[in-house]
This record gives sequence, structure tokens and C-alpha cells, in this order.
Amino acid sequence: MNFKGSANFEKSAKSRVHSEATIFHKILSKEIPATIVFEDEHCLAFRDIQPQAPQHILLIPKEFVEKLDALQQKPEDQALLGHLMSVIPQIARKQKFTEYRIVINNGSKAGQTVFYLHIHILAGRAFQWPPG
Ligand code: AMP
Repeated sequence: MNFKGSANFEKSAKSRVHSEATIFHKILSKEIPATIVFEDEHCLAFRDIQPQAPQHILLIPKEFVEKLDALQQKPEDQALLGHLMSVIPQIARKQKFTEYRIVINNGSKAGQTVFYLHIHILAGRAFQWPPG
């Protein structure tokens, strides 16, 4: 599925512009600094300021999405999520992670504190299950 430059994707992106800026809007607009480790047309990855593992990266879409639940089973949403998932192994290879955990906190009871969809990529230690 190719969503790059598609009319639907552009339309969807415009309809999701949000006036209330989160900290990740400000990182994206370079208003506040972050250590960026990966960037392409659709997403940005940067180091978490309070790492929960020796390596902790956050991956966000450039199109604003409040949380995972805001996405639907539309081709453009599927393409966006597919794109985010597909860049994770690229980021991991670049960072020389061999084993890692990815986490999405959806909603405050699930641990979401920044209401801008992000995928945590954690590496550099053993992880427990269940996560707690
Ligand atoms: P969550 O609890 O899933 O919403 O995750 C939000 C994450 O954003 C936390 O791990 C924070 O440490 C991280 N975070 C908050 N502010 C910044 C920032 N300015 N730069 C990088 N990471 C941040």
C-alpha cells in the first residue's frame, strides 16, 4: 500500500491538525530540542528524555494523531501505522539493537501522558512479562 502523496492521506492529514500543541508538536517544529535518531517524510524518532532502559527512543508520526484509538480501519490510517511499524526495524538496525521491546500506551490508565501517538522502542536490558 502506497500512501505517499495520496489524496486521501493529504486530506486526512489536514483534518487532523490540532491547535493544542503537545510537547511532541514542539519537538516536531524544533521549538524545543530533542536528540533525533531518525526522520523521514512521515515520521520522526528521538531519544526519550527520561529513559526507562539504557536505550529508549520515541517514534511519532508527523501527522498529528492523539492516540492509537484515534485511528480507524481506513487505508490511510493502515498505511500510516504500517509505515511506523516498518521503520522500527530500520531504527533498531541503525542503533545496533538486536532485541528490543515496543510499547504504545493508549489512554491515561494505560500510562499515556503525552497525547500525541508515539511508539516507545526500548532496548539494552532484559524486560519482564507481564509489564505491570
Ligand atoms: P507516555 O507515558 O507513553 O505518554 O510517554 C511519554 C514519554 O515522553 C515519556 O517516556 C517521557 O519521558 C517522554 N517525554 C516527555 N517529554 C519529552 C521530551 N521533551 N523529550 C523527549 N521525551 C519526552
